[in-house]
Amino acid sequence: MELKNKRVLVVGLGRSGLSSALFLRAQGAQVTVSDRRSAEALAKEIPALLDAGIMVESGGHGLLTFRRQDLIVVSPGIPMDTPEVKQAQAFGLTVIGALELGCRFLKGRVVAITGSNGKTTTTTLLGKIFEEAGGPTLVGGNIGLPVIDLVEKSTAETVSVLEVSSFQLETIEEFHPWIAVVLNITPDHLDRHGSFEAYWAAKARITERQETGDFLVLNAEDKPTQMVATKTRAQIYWFSTRRPVKQGAFVHGESIFFIAKEGVKAEPVMPVAEIGLKGAHNVENVLAAVCSARLAGIGAETIRASVASFKGVEHRLEFVRNLNGVEFYNDSKATNVDAAMKAVASFRGGVHLILGGKDKGSPYDVMAALLRERVKVVYTIGSAAEKIERELQGVVKIVSAETIQAAVAEAAKAAVAGDVVLLAPACSSFDQFENYEHRGQVFRQLVNELS
Ligand code: ADP
Repeated sequence: MELKNKRVLVVGLGRSGLSSALFLRAQGAQVTVSDRRSAEALAKEIPALLDAGIMVESGGHGLLTFRRQDLIVVSPGIPMDTPEVKQAQAFGLTVIGALELGCRFLKGRVVAITGSNGKTTTTTLLGKIFEEAGGPTLVGGNIGLPVIDLVEKSTAETVSVLEVSSFQLETIEEFHPWIAVVLNITPDHLDRHGSFEAYWAAKARITERQETGDFLVLNAEDKPTQMVATKTRAQIYWFSTRRPVKQGAFVHGESIFFIAKEGVKAEPVMPVAEIGLKGAHNVENVLAAVCSARLAGIGAETIRASVASFKGVEHRLEFVRNLNGVEFYNDSKATNVDAAMKAVASFRGGVHLILGGKDKGSPYDVMAALLRERVKVVYTIGSAAEKIERELQGVVKIVSAETIQAAVAEAAKAAVAGDVVLLAPACSSFDQFENYEHRGQVFRQLVNELS
């Protein structure tokens, strides 16, 4: 891709937008960035951009800014139905996302992981396995460093393990992973994608450019994920916690097995009991990682050691404290209903569940049976509280706590030895917190201050 003297607009000045702009400028492009936020809000970023010779448009997008460009790079935080973006597309301008831009320059091979839940856990684990196997490895994408920041470090031998979101997949063109993983597709981000079908279609694009020499790793137990098999030219591998698959990774009895090719003998990889993470959902993540790592030629012993020593990522079913026999878990990253259900299902019962935040458009009543079985009390917080209370009325005892402070205090008071206090809010955090990390930190601090 020739960028010298090309006019390029970067929309959205988040982390990847900033990196993209500086990268494009360094390649000799004439770069403009446009962000809705005011110049004051962007005070930290603007000087570096101006110093690099990048033009900055703040406080809104000018329609004309979107016309006179050879290329438009849209940050993952910018919806594709933003009027200026749609008009630019209608005028025939090339509009791509930060993932596409990064991957056009990234050297080596790409392992890409998507799904509604489990991306970060699986990407982090798989990155660790590749690192411990000893080859040159980079990890990033939707977590850690944006792909564009990996470019400089990549060589022809590098394997880049990338977490990719549906938003990033909406704006790909040539993105071509060697191994693509789809963990699950459950309702999430419907507020932005508009419908489940649109969300599914965005996720399925992960395999759009794959060829017969590539691999597509799919969850055999998730219907929408199975359907992605209809969209690929790649070799399909499956993972399942429930039954043997034709080729791929699965749990049988007490152990994980891998079948390298349909018809060949299953090889044992490791006992399930050695997995260092809690919850059945994490067994799925491990299976996806095992399958991908074996496809990349990494030996079972290396995989086994890496999986056994992996303790998970913070804010994902993270153990915080045991106080008088009550265990406190922080799963602030459970920002949708499915993740929250997986979190609850990781415990046998006696759960005090903190639910709520900013609603994302999915129903909560699907949780009813599980809550009845395992949850003693639900404590609602945030702007979704009213909807949650309406949909779960009569299912379990509900306490309207409004804030996380009150929820932790009430739950700590009510819980008895053997119970679990779980933050798995099923909502995003933006109504009361900066982000889910902030919410998790506040929860941890409140729990650690209990006496
Ligand atoms: P993502 O990056 O896709 O958001 P994470 O690994 O950060 O995924 O996990 C997000 C949330 O989803 C956490 O609350 C976690 O407990 C839950 N989770 C993790 N893996 C899975 C899975 N395979 N299926 C369902 N929920 C999961």
